Amino acid sequence: MTGHPEDALKSYASRPHLSRGRRFSEPDPSERTDFQRDRDRIVHSNAFRRLMYKTQVFVNHEGDHYRTRLTHSLEVAQIGRTVALALGLNETLTEAICLAHDLGHTPFGHAGQDALNACMQAHGGFEHNLQSLRIVDELEEKYAQFDGLNLTFETREGILKHCSKRNARLLGALGQRFLDRTRPGPEAQLADLVDAIAYNHHDVDDGLRAGLLDIDALRTQPLFDVPYREVTARYPGLSRRRLTYEVKRRMINHIVGDLIDESRRRVAALEPRHADDIRAHEVRVIAFSAATEEAHLALKRFLMEHLYRHPDVVVMQQQAAEVVDTLFHYFASDILRVPQAFRERRGVDAETQEYEQMRLVADYLSGMTDRFAMSRFEQIQP
Ligand code: MG
Repeated sequence: MTGHPEDALKSYASRPHLSRGRRFSEPDPSERTDFQRDRDRIVHSNAFRRLMYKTQVFVNHEGDHYRTRLTHSLEVAQIGRTVALALGLNETLTEAICLAHDLGHTPFGHAGQDALNACMQAHGGFEHNLQSLRIVDELEEKYAQFDGLNLTFETREGILKHCSKRNARLLGALGQRFLDRTRPGPEAQLADLVDAIAYNHHDVDDGLRAGLLDIDALRTQPLFDVPYREVTARYPGLSRRRLTYEVKRRMINHIVGDLIDESRRRVAALEPRHADDIRAHEVRVIAFSAATEEAHLALKRFLMEHLYRHPDVVVMQQQAAEVVDTLFHYFASDILRVPQAFRERRGVDAETQEYEQMRLVADYLSGMTDRFAMSRFEQIQP
């Protein structure tokens, strides 16, 4: 069979017919691979559509040009597919993982997640990454025969980027690698890194657009400064808008190129014959070079200090935390305030154990979009 996308796959790429399978067995899809089916299920999910109205860094209503969780996820998927193709990995599996990786985010980004986690401390906590898995495994209601989307092991493995040992023990085969300290498959390793590539670069862009970052400060970062000098030398007098895009594009090209080159080097040294050889290897095979990794982490720290902890962002985060905290206690103090349909499908009422009641509140609240959370918050104000 010539021209089939799988012809270009390397021996160590994940292959749908070698998948460890789904939790509930289903007939093979007729015109798609199992990973295409996973990707399509993710795109059709309710949780995916809600990403449109969820904060990445800037609250959804602050401006129409800022990234939302949805556009972030699309950028992650786009970069992921490019790298997957270059490395001969499974492009569709990479895309599926990238599109699903943030499904479990609360409204208002990390501020929302931290507030909800604080509210849930006595009830098992809340972690957005674990929640992404919970959405695809349990919370989506699409099928007559099972809860969730019944995705393949490989997609679920990629979604679960990190996990405590306590939670890993509850997750069976999927949690095993956190107990064995082995690694996930190559597409999962890739999706994890391209997430960071996407947010580092679009947050530079959004931060400049918002006027919270300034170019002189950014020039302390080698990843920014090198292309900045290139662009200003070649195009003197360029408008700030075009300058920003020219620099950002070169930044992404540079780091993506580094990721591809370094991963190829590591593959050549290891000679993996199967995706499991990559899982079993003690260090990651899909990786940045040491120098780029260091510069990448420095940019991440820079953004933490100058953008995510910027006083204007902190004010927004404090307001978001107050909204989440208020809503949590509103629903937790009387479970019957959670919409009936949401409670009934889980069989939760006022007599149910507190632990299950609180998990229901966390599921309900974390599924809210920013604007729905805001409007519920305003409704319940005395
Ligand atoms: Mg992300």
